[in-house]
Amino acid sequence: MADSTGAANGEEVAGTENLTDGFTLVIDALKLNDIKTIYNVPGIPITDLGRMMQASGMRILSFRHEQNAGYAAGASGFLTKKPGICLTVSAPGFLNGLTALAHATTNCFPMILISGSSEREIVDLQQGDYEEMDQLAVAKPLCKAAYRVLNVEDIGIGIARAIRAAVSGRPGGVYLDLPGKLFTQVIDADEGAKSLVEVIDAAPSQLPSSQSVDRALNLLKGAERPLIILGKGAAYSQADDDIRNFVEKSGIPYLPMSMAKGLLPDNHPQSASAARSLVLKDSDVVMLIGARINWLLSHGKGRTWGDQAKKFIQVDIEPKEMDSNVEIAAPVVGDIGSCVKSLLEGMGEEWPKPPSEWTEEVKDKVETNVARMAPRLENDNNPMDFHGALGALKKIIKERPDSVLVNEGANTLDFARTVIDMYKPRKRLDVGTWGVMGIGMGSAIAAAVETGQPVLAIEGDSAFGFSGMEIETICRYNLPVCVVVFNNSGIYRGMDTNPTGGSDAATTVFVKDSRYDKMIEAFGGVGVSVTSPDELTSAVNEAMDSGRPTLINAVIDSSAGTESGRIGNLNPKSVVAAKKE
Ligand code: ADP
Ligand code: MG
Repeated sequence: MADSTGAANGEEVAGTENLTDGFTLVIDALKLNDIKTIYNVPGIPITDLGRMMQASGMRILSFRHEQNAGYAAGASGFLTKKPGICLTVSAPGFLNGLTALAHATTNCFPMILISGSSEREIVDLQQGDYEEMDQLAVAKPLCKAAYRVLNVEDIGIGIARAIRAAVSGRPGGVYLDLPGKLFTQVIDADEGAKSLVEVIDAAPSQLPSSQSVDRALNLLKGAERPLIILGKGAAYSQADDDIRNFVEKSGIPYLPMSMAKGLLPDNHPQSASAARSLVLKDSDVVMLIGARINWLLSHGKGRTWGDQAKKFIQVDIEPKEMDSNVEIAAPVVGDIGSCVKSLLEGMGEEWPKPPSEWTEEVKDKVETNVARMAPRLENDNNPMDFHGALGALKKIIKERPDSVLVNEGANTLDFARTVIDMYKPRKRLDVGTWGVMGIGMGSAIAAAVETGQPVLAIEGDSAFGFSGMEIETICRYNLPVCVVVFNNSGIYRGMDTNPTGGSDAATTVFVKDSRYDKMIEAFGGVGVSVTSPDELTSAVNEAMDSGRPTLINAVIDSSAGTESGRIGNLNPKSVVAAKKE
């Protein structure tokens, strides 16, 4: 391949001292914008880019599959408020990363998928290039913005646009297409340096109007049974102190969505988590802060929300989010930090607490439900059920509140979300808005890399399978990750049988008595298999103390789970088949 100097690929060119190339400018542009960590899978045409990034002092984490690198980038965006970068090869690698890019966009995580691509001239004439694909066109509908850079002097602008698009307004995924030829293009070094762009104020504050703040406060003040719902947008905004002050000053019961858990500690006296059904049904004014009324909140309608007439206040950076499912009586559009600050100011010195009949009713319900759950969490069944195992892990997180919890699965997710209390913001990473399986190891790696804290990943055996090979990555970088696989030998449960009586396994069951712990031993990590809550406790504590990559195979009773966990109602069932049974 010839570049614009006429030199063969990689060949020395006489008098290159004053020249720079695409490789270097991509690296310099990222560094100039304080991006120093890259989640990648090497290959054509970005192998050398990764090498040069590492040589330049950036941290490059090479994964075994692009989807996991992409989930890591998304999680890193959520944790840091800076775009997480996933770097992939062309066509198939790009497509593998695309799931994670769409996931980031859906979850409002800032992320940039940078993919190398094949030669435009050949791709556009569809002449069958190596890994030919019009990646830009494919990516466009699945992300917030998509750009392609064709000329070396545009690298600075291209990367600046990608960064700004990812983090400004509602954050999301951005695709950046870099054709292989771009990397070897050369220009004068001074000119190259001048072409770089430092993004100033990438995510500018967006202040809410004072009318919108007054309207919201008036509605809240007049409420008899108010409720605040905190979503992962609130966690993302990093306005932790103001959010806590606002909730406490209001005296209103609050409900954290799963990734907003810990924004206020889950054992906070105003937490209504354990009275979720009650507060959703009986509240009269509901204030959403960085949470969308989507399927996770039953679209704001139906049985979950009951017959009580309700008015909604919504605090969100995205104006289009308002009235998406139900009428929003008081939209407050702006960034959460600014909005919550304005709300706090507007509350003045004295703010009337909500009627005590309501707050006491919620508290009573919380206490009753917590007391009802407690003995189940202490059970010592062997093999374990979900509650026995999670009761043990709940204590561990309480003792180690700085650890990051990663959680996916069906039953493993649903039960862990309710059982395990979080005490600090942004310590819980899970399946997010789609309820997707496969985020586990990518999220765990990002959490360890970005926070430096120990990570506990609680994984259903099925969920773990989607990213399980990344335990090699965890061992390779020696990350303080302890993976606990809840092994019930199947999806939902491990009890199904083939209805024909044939020798093929049923569609939802896995190999019985499998030993996931053996997998990590192959890479020098610590593997342990446990069957009781006590064994589980000591194995996890040891892993968290040592910081060594560990995989614990936690044997769970195969009959303990339920179909689709808590969302069985979303799994269509055939009436015809049921009749035939
Ligand atoms: P959850 O699943 O926890 O309910 P969602 O992902 O549904 O949360 O909602 C997050 C919301 O937060 C999105 O509507 C998004 O626009 C909003 N958001 C994200 N970051 C900010 C921010 N910095 N300021 C205001 N709103 C934000
Ligand atoms: Mg399972």
